[in-house]
Amino acid sequence: MQALEEHYKPFLSSRVEARKFSPFWGQDLPEGLIPHPKPIDLGPGLPHEGFFPLESMHLNVVEDPFQHTSYNTKSRKLHKPAPETSTHFDERRFVSDKLSSESAVDVWRYEPDSPGVIPLSQGLQYTDTAGMKPMLDFCRGFISYAHPPAYDEWDVTLANGSSDASFKIFETLCDSSVTVLVEEFTFSPTLAIIAATGGTAVPVKLDITADPDLQGINVDHLTDLLENWTQGPNAHLSKPKLLYTIPTGQNPTGMTLSLEKRKQIYALAEKHDFIIIEDDPYGYLRYPFYDRENPGYNPYALHEYTAKDYCEKVLAKSFITMDTSGRVLRCETFSKVFCPGLRLSFVAGNKFLIKKLVDFAEVSSRAPSGVSQLIVNNVIQKWAKNHSSPQEAWLTWVMKVAGHYTHRRNMFVQALEATEAFGKGLFSLAQTTAGMFLAVEVNFDQFAKALNTTERSQAMQRLKLITIEEGVGIILGINMAVDRHYSLARSFFLRLTFAFAADVEELQEAAVRLSKAFKRFATEF
Ligand code: PMP
Ligand code: PLP
Repeated sequence: MQALEEHYKPFLSSRVEARKFSPFWGQDLPEGLIPHPKPIDLGPGLPHEGFFPLESMHLNVVEDPFQHTSYNTKSRKLHKPAPETSTHFDERRFVSDKLSSESAVDVWRYEPDSPGVIPLSQGLQYTDTAGMKPMLDFCRGFISYAHPPAYDEWDVTLANGSSDASFKIFETLCDSSVTVLVEEFTFSPTLAIIAATGGTAVPVKLDITADPDLQGINVDHLTDLLENWTQGPNAHLSKPKLLYTIPTGQNPTGMTLSLEKRKQIYALAEKHDFIIIEDDPYGYLRYPFYDRENPGYNPYALHEYTAKDYCEKVLAKSFITMDTSGRVLRCETFSKVFCPGLRLSFVAGNKFLIKKLVDFAEVSSRAPSGVSQLIVNNVIQKWAKNHSSPQEAWLTWVMKVAGHYTHRRNMFVQALEATEAFGKGLFSLAQTTAGMFLAVEVNFDQFAKALNTTERSQAMQRLKLITIEEGVGIILGINMAVDRHYSLARSFFLRLTFAFAADVEELQEAAVRLSKAFKRFATEF
């Protein structure tokens, strides 16, 4: 810990240094003092759990995504109208009847006979800021199972989603003197966080391509940027202390960094001494490249992987697995593989920095919602009864989610490639192997070769309006650029997601509409 502190203290923001928080409840006991064996604690300002109005919670848990036996996913209503005499209560019973009693997770005020389960008395109470012990134990176990760090002094803390974790990290590490390397197209709320914490984001060139060896951060460009910092365009800025990356299923490009590139980037971090903030919400949604010869190929549906195979052979290796010096902060979130409304996530990293994140949470959000922790923990514990470990149980669910994403991706790419606009070469697809995004590149050379970069950029705005008229929602790549001017020539793409549509038919209809939009667009030149 001493060595970690020495190395990473200079990375802390001035606000961390100014954070003087001394909790009024803590006290070191003088040596020799023997506390009363049965104290009556009049110290903590917690309401006794007897004051809580909730006695129990009943959750009906599905075994598979989209196993909505009673609901129509499109209308988000019951399949059959409930009988005329029905009340709200009857509707609920209708739902419960369709699920086996095996699927229920009941939680009571006290759970003395269920170790590992968080009872309501704890879930509804103030708790440790880093997280409740069963949840922290699960997260530590999960990191050890799926992405074991290459050093010992690491830990985890919970957070209220990776957005919150990012804010806490930049609050802790970013200042007006700090330069942050960021993929040139990125999850733009992070740019707002960097700006709000005083830092300057510098874009790193991305390769947007179907070649798995080339996808993502252009390492030659990054190397050149770092090696020649003082002669380069960013010479007026300090050398970067941080790299923020979405390494797998990158948002918005869908790119996944190869293992080789990850090793090279980690080596650069060691050489130039910067911290890697790895934001990985999409890492668990992995699939093979789309195969035109076998468009339906879905290894999850064929049960090709065990949980262990999935970790060892399918998941991209986290930067933390090659981290020997504690310079990686890995942000995981339950948003995409459980539900975003719970606002629950965790960060893994070196103990010194994790403690600093917890210190900040002490004076901001405090612990993430106890109800969210209770739901995730107790559902996993329930699944774990049929598995050799909670980690395996969780991954069994995660692989089911990944299987659905694989199917959607397959059917969506098939539908897009079957369109007239694709046939005419008006757009092409940057194939992906993870996540929920697909970058659709506009092939201006095919129908508007004469347009210069600025005119193409203006045309992209026009395309956006046409897609609105044709009834398909898209995001323009340029809207997620770190520096619009820098990335303009590489910004002629749309981000599409296949996550939110109700079903494959909707995705197929979207492909047809997109094709119509492209055809209209092309005739305007
Ligand atoms: N403000 C005051 C004055 C308090 O005493 C407390 C609870 N001890 C809080 C805020 C914390 O409130 P909450 O649980 O809503 O964060
Ligand atoms: N980070 C990235 C890269 C994302 O794409 C998203 C998703 O919207 C988030 C973070 C937000 O995650 P969370 O719901 O955990 O805050």
